[in-house]
Amino acid sequence: MKDSGRYWLETYGCQMNSAESDALEIQLAARGWLPSGRPEDADLIILNTCSVRQTAENRIWGRLGYFQSLKEENKLKIAVMGCMAERLKDQIRERVPSVDIIVGTFGKNLIPDILNSNEEKIDLFGKDEFSFQRVYGRKGVFRSSMPIMHGCNNYCSYCIVPYVRGREVSRDPEEIVGELIDLDNRGVLEVTLLGQNVNSYQHRKGEDIITFPQLLKEITLKVSNIQWIRFLSSHPKDFPKELISIIAENEKLCNHIHLAVQHGSDKILAEMNRKYTREWFINLVDEIRQEIPAISLTTDLLIGFPGETEEDFELTIDLIEKVRFSDAFTYYYNPREGTKAFNMGDTIPREIKLKRLSRLIEVQRRISIEEKRKRIGNREKVLIEAVSKKNRNELLARTEGNSMVVFHGKAERIGSFTTVDLKDLRGSTFIGMEVSLCHGNS
Ligand code: SF4
Repeated sequence: MKDSGRYWLETYGCQMNSAESDALEIQLAARGWLPSGRPEDADLIILNTCSVRQTAENRIWGRLGYFQSLKEENKLKIAVMGCMAERLKDQIRERVPSVDIIVGTFGKNLIPDILNSNEEKIDLFGKDEFSFQRVYGRKGVFRSSMPIMHGCNNYCSYCIVPYVRGREVSRDPEEIVGELIDLDNRGVLEVTLLGQNVNSYQHRKGEDIITFPQLLKEITLKVSNIQWIRFLSSHPKDFPKELISIIAENEKLCNHIHLAVQHGSDKILAEMNRKYTREWFINLVDEIRQEIPAISLTTDLLIGFPGETEEDFELTIDLIEKVRFSDAFTYYYNPREGTKAFNMGDTIPREIKLKRLSRLIEVQRRISIEEKRKRIGNREKVLIEAVSKKNRNELLARTEGNSMVVFHGKAERIGSFTTVDLKDLRGSTFIGMEVSLCHGNS
């Protein structure tokens, strides 16, 4: 196999996949591989796949079909990795015989090593403990993400993740801190710690157990350039008081928690195997808000689960009205073969799912806007990320609570912190005005 050239990498699904793709790109670059700009010019095509939703899988099948036709014209290699590779390896070999390399959810970092193998077809599966090594991203030099744990033990009845990513494995804290110090030395300002169930992080070394709050504490003591630390995604059941207090006390831990509630009906939450009730969740939110009044809470909401009645759905609307999340990722249920819920059938007709989803989106959008409007007039710290696509004279920045702000400014400011006054809203983006230091406003 060719061991350098041009590659095209497509990434689907979660932030974990994005971080792993970033890490793979760093490894490829170190071996002389360059991005091709478009798939038609590539010597190597890599798909980092997702299996969480059927729509993602359908899209990937379509792309594989296209890349197979490209391969008939050009001499290129196709590698498929990630959750769909793990789940549907045999189907991929059968439906797209021209795929050269299939790698499961472990061992993605080994792809550069196997590119110069003489074997025609390579399948790489299994539990490679070392697949975490140096897996951190590079969203520009000032933002980065780092997986700190892998897999999930929760078995939510609708979710394929525990089957494709395996059980939870938490990385060695010394390795995590070492890599973060490295990022810190390289001038990174913001880091997102990643895990399917990040707050259940727990590393055992002999008699010692390091928990997630302890890890966060340790990290904040060791980094100096990194001013913002985020983490994704949190399961509500693993949110002890100690974790709330550490976020409240430590300036480096962002006042933003993505706390996936999924539903507002106790009946559906139990069927989903989420291990909490709506009342328990509302109490948790109250506790968090009492300790951290400025917290921004975002969530995931899944509607159309088998057996969901209008009443169950209304309880979800009621929950979001009560909790008032800053934002929500909303989606409707699709059965995934191999999960427990698959056997419950897909009882809610698609039109009803779509109708409920659009109402949910509408209500959440209104709440998001109302909550944002309350912040107009605030002065907030932001990290400048990019030039606005709509207006080249405007910069796009992110607040600690994960809201986007545009304001007038020059591109050389990208990758620095500043302070802005929030003046207005354009859609869901704030319009800000940078606080001018020379006028003594800071
Ligand atoms: S917590 Fe539930 S939804 Fe999240 S990855 Fe684990 S099984 Fe899936």
